[in-house]
Amino acid sequence: MKKENLLTILILAGLVGGVLFGQYAIFDAAQSKQALAQAAQPFQTAGELIFIRPLRLLIVPLVFVSVVTGVTSIGNPSKLGLVGGATMVYFLGTTLAAVVLGLLIASVVQPGSGVDPASLQITAQADYQSEVAQKVATGPAGIGNAFISLAQDMVPPNILRAAADNNVLAVVVFAIALGIALSIAGKAAEPAVAVLDALLAALMKIVGWVMWLAPAGVFLIVAARVGVAGLSSLVGPLGVYILCVVGGLLIHLLVVLPAVLLLFGRTDPYRFLWQIRRVILTAFSTASSSATLPVTIETCRTQGGCSKRAATFVPALGATVNMNGTALYEAVAVLFLFQVFGIDLTIGQKLVILVTATLAAIGAPGIPGAGLVTMAIVINAVNSSLAAMAPDARQLPLWTIGIIIGVDRFLDMCRTVLNVVGDCIGARIMSRLAPDEEEPQSTALTPA
Ligand code: ASP
Repeated sequence: MKKENLLTILILAGLVGGVLFGQYAIFDAAQSKQALAQAAQPFQTAGELIFIRPLRLLIVPLVFVSVVTGVTSIGNPSKLGLVGGATMVYFLGTTLAAVVLGLLIASVVQPGSGVDPASLQITAQADYQSEVAQKVATGPAGIGNAFISLAQDMVPPNILRAAADNNVLAVVVFAIALGIALSIAGKAAEPAVAVLDALLAALMKIVGWVMWLAPAGVFLIVAARVGVAGLSSLVGPLGVYILCVVGGLLIHLLVVLPAVLLLFGRTDPYRFLWQIRRVILTAFSTASSSATLPVTIETCRTQGGCSKRAATFVPALGATVNMNGTALYEAVAVLFLFQVFGIDLTIGQKLVILVTATLAAIGAPGIPGAGLVTMAIVINAVNSSLAAMAPDARQLPLWTIGIIIGVDRFLDMCRTVLNVVGDCIGARIMSRLAPDEEEPQSTALTPA
């Protein structure tokens, strides 16, 4: 059996084993909610130690080296501008499409009508206070502030401290600037570029090794996640809401993005999805675009047929900026919560969701649960629009986010898959604009 297939089978086995172990050995065996959290904690800690930490420690060196070499290999700065511009158009276009899809599904299916808010209120308020309230209070208050903090992330006063804080965006911006400078310096800079090229090859090897830790890591992390929430949380009053989110994510993953890839990337989309299966499995189990980033870069390059130029900086930028799954999820979740509380929204207010959910997804960091926190920005914006129309209109309190916290862990895993697949498809499309010189065939239409 090919090593690649063996690894996929082992990761899948870790995933299924983790679900079963989490449900039967942790969730079903625990006596109380507190005992559950205590029983799941060692699995979470061990999973982070053997899989998520090794991935996270690779993020900064890999992003730095891969973006610099990606930019130097594009060479001409005006070509870089073209690829950069096209990447941004792709990110924004697919994110908007994801929000529109989410709004359509939630408006047609109406998952919130018929759910009794009184039955959920007490636990929702407690969950909100203990898990999200603090982050919302210390996070950006509005969309303007979210963008100021994004801009501040891009221009840190100290690049080493930014790197030490795992601020990927700052590293990307610095690496692009350095890459352009090295290209302009020409011959004098060639030794530095050669060293970085060699380092990139070595770092990719390390990512390959870390992937062999994935089966055990996935088992432990998934066992902890399922152990805390239990599979039973997926049925009940939130069942239709979950179906709407997962259905929307699947339509975007299997219909919308494949159509975009076929049209602009001239690539067989389903074959491509199969080629990037380890990215999908890693994103699903870690629920973090940033932790998955080393795997994304390595897989796009080695399995996904993306050019070195595109496989490096498109995923690096996309891990923080491009989040189709988060955008779709926020649209469905916010509409759902307004429906539960019987507050009807006009087309204008849905447009407010369209704009703010797009921006909130762009501003959300690629870490677990980030979408739940930036959702407060969307709710606040809709509330302001309701108040502007009628000062005494009913508004949605932020604690209502607590209603969906219980199922958020699972939905986080699902939306992170779409976030990361969006980056990979972007890299594949940009490979046409910026192919590798030595392998001009790599962007041709791949047979099924
Ligand atoms: N966990 C997601 C990610 O890392 C972000 C989110 O919470 O929506 O991509």
